[in-house]
Amino acid sequence: MPVSGLPPYDENNIFARILRGEIPSKRVHEDEWAVAFHDIAPQAPTHVLVIPRGAYVSLADFATRGSEAEVAGFWRAVATVAKSLGLEDAGYRTLSNMGRAAGQEVPHFHVHLFGGRPLGPMLV
Ligand code: 5GP
Repeated sequence: MPVSGLPPYDENNIFARILRGEIPSKRVHEDEWAVAFHDIAPQAPTHVLVIPRGAYVSLADFATRGSEAEVAGFWRAVATVAKSLGLEDAGYRTLSNMGRAAGQEVPHFHVHLFGGRPLGPMLV
């Protein structure tokens, strides 16, 4: 078990199944590197999850094993999604829980994208 408390990558985690189209999702973006879809339990007027197409458990895993092209392509996609959803002018927040202690529930790396209202100070 890695330090983060996360098990090795599970091909049947919920986001892997969403990527394969086995579970429906409301997709807002997809490209070579990333897929974005609405969170099932939104915590802001806009709450989208952006995930890489590759099989990575967490940000730490992605940063360690992801290629330069994957990492760059993924983070560009995050900003592209935010812009395409009209969040850029008002501003938005990105967040990634890394590991069980941080509250990571789904063991496929993902970035939360929040917007659509004043977000206030960041609470940890
Ligand atoms: P985490 O706690 O791992 O950072 O965030 C997981 C997120 O995935 C949560 O915000 C949760 O609402 C969302 N989520 C869990 N299951 C599903 C699902 O089946 N579909 C979608 N669209 N979101 C999900």
